Amino acid sequence: MEQTLSIIKPDAVKKNVVGKILDRFESNGLRIAAMKKVWLSRAEAKAFYAVHKDRPFFDELVDFMVSGPVVVSVLEGENAVAKNRELMGATDPKEAAPGTIRADFAESIDANAVHGSDSLENAEKEIAFFFAKREIF
Ligand code: GDP
Repeated sequence: MEQTLSIIKPDAVKKNVVGKILDRFESNGLRIAAMKKVWLSRAEAKAFYAVHKDRPFFDELVDFMVSGPVVVSVLEGENAVAKNRELMGATDPKEAAPGTIRADFAESIDANAVHGSDSLENAEKEIAFFFAKREIF
């Protein structure tokens, strides 16, 4: 059993497709172990995406992530990290495989509907960033 962090980004929350995205997880063997809706501060968004701080798109990414509330959840299941990445599809929705969340709900490489941890190690850090142990079931 693995746990991974999912964020439904501001674009998808604004489009009112939170339930449709959560259904993709639940229908594909992932369980929601924790969940909340939060509006990130600029400091929080910068800290969360600190690995990208030297990339040219960092400011754009931070602006986008604070443009509205997000829905953050801990997903649990067998191979949860890879399974979530597979359900999300490629970072750029134009390259995302048909039937993936990004192919179906994302507009562009920055407004790309969802975030998912890319390794078990990062999943642990990202889960701890948002949730206390007592909030995860
Ligand atoms: P992910 O793991 O598939 O989310 O992709 P990355 O970790 O490479 O990038 C993190 C996030 O930064 C992506 O989900 C995008 O929202 C954003 N991003 C990545 N590449 C670009 C880019 O070239 N331009 C812009 N504006 N945003 C980008």
